[in-house]
Amino acid sequence: MIIIENVKKIFQTKTGNLTAVDDVNLKINEGEIFGVIGYSGAGKSTLIRMLNGLEKPTSGKLEVSGKDIASIQGKELRHARQKIGMIFQHFNLLWSRTVAENIAFPLEIAKVSKFERQERVQELIQLVGLEGKENAYPSQLSGGQKQRVGIARALANNPTVLLCDEATSALDPETTDSILELLLGINKKLGLTIVLITHEMHVIRKICQRVAVMEDGKVVESGDVLEVFKNPQTPITKKFVGQGTEQQDTKETMNQLLKKYPSGKVVKLTFVGDTAEQPIIQSLLQNVQLTVNILHGNISQTQNGSYGTLLLHLDGTEESIDEAIQYLNQQRVGIEVVN
Ligand code: ADP
Repeated sequence: MIIIENVKKIFQTKTGNLTAVDDVNLKINEGEIFGVIGYSGAGKSTLIRMLNGLEKPTSGKLEVSGKDIASIQGKELRHARQKIGMIFQHFNLLWSRTVAENIAFPLEIAKVSKFERQERVQELIQLVGLEGKENAYPSQLSGGQKQRVGIARALANNPTVLLCDEATSALDPETTDSILELLLGINKKLGLTIVLITHEMHVIRKICQRVAVMEDGKVVESGDVLEVFKNPQTPITKKFVGQGTEQQDTKETMNQLLKKYPSGKVVKLTFVGDTAEQPIIQSLLQNVQLTVNILHGNISQTQNGSYGTLLLHLDGTEESIDEAIQYLNQQRVGIEVVN
């Protein structure tokens, strides 16, 4: 569906050449939700802009739905771009137009008749849950509603791919969740391929099936979301795995806990999905002769399993503690011995 092969983008700047995207190779399957995560400056936006034909790669191949986006131009590129929808962090709506007029805009450009436009706009309004807001102006809408307009507009020409450029970064957590659920629903209903870029781990965990981690223009890791985050190979991926849990596992809490339990070992378990902590802890207690204290937990449940960290204090003989650590190592959890 999307093939990115040896793609490089070098910008010429006043201070010299800047490699924004450095030899990236990715294959994104039809109908999947693929996430690209990285910190600011990693090259995510440049990559997604190239997928949308807004930017040409310096070298390499970019194929979207069988079209070589990088080499076509003019009318052919315009047609190909109509089948690639895009939504943005700051919505990019036309402020002087109503909700209905914003959604109809790409249809006007595609020269769709007025009657068809009106029908299509109504369908899209329903799809994104904006009934009753047809005649409102963007300034009268909440952030979440503005992004719903952005999504409806992006879907107007029935695209096969939807590109999301930090689409929830300007929204509060609750609204973020509702927009992600909407995207998930649209993916399921329409079979649309979604590529989203973000710097937020939560976004990836919530809806993506596969992920690529970007740093300095390069993809440093990619694969199934659960696999990549269960067994992170690079420091940057490890940082993302800890995102959202580190606030509560402050050094202070850790030090206090370690003082309280001078004997035995404290282990930190990281749950990254499709596991539940209860059975693991229960079977640990059944199989190993030691005392287990649950010190501190920050676990949340999602439809994909548990996410978060759990600190356990294991007390007993050295052998039984080793045995417990070995047992935990075999489970689908991250494990780190803290002391
Ligand atoms: P991200 O989306 O991950 O924050 P970007 O793709 O925006 O990263 O940027 C990657 C690098 O490319 C940054 O160093 C940025 O300053 C640079 N860059 C992006 N666009 C341009 C441009 N049009 N001209 C020059 N440098 C650019």
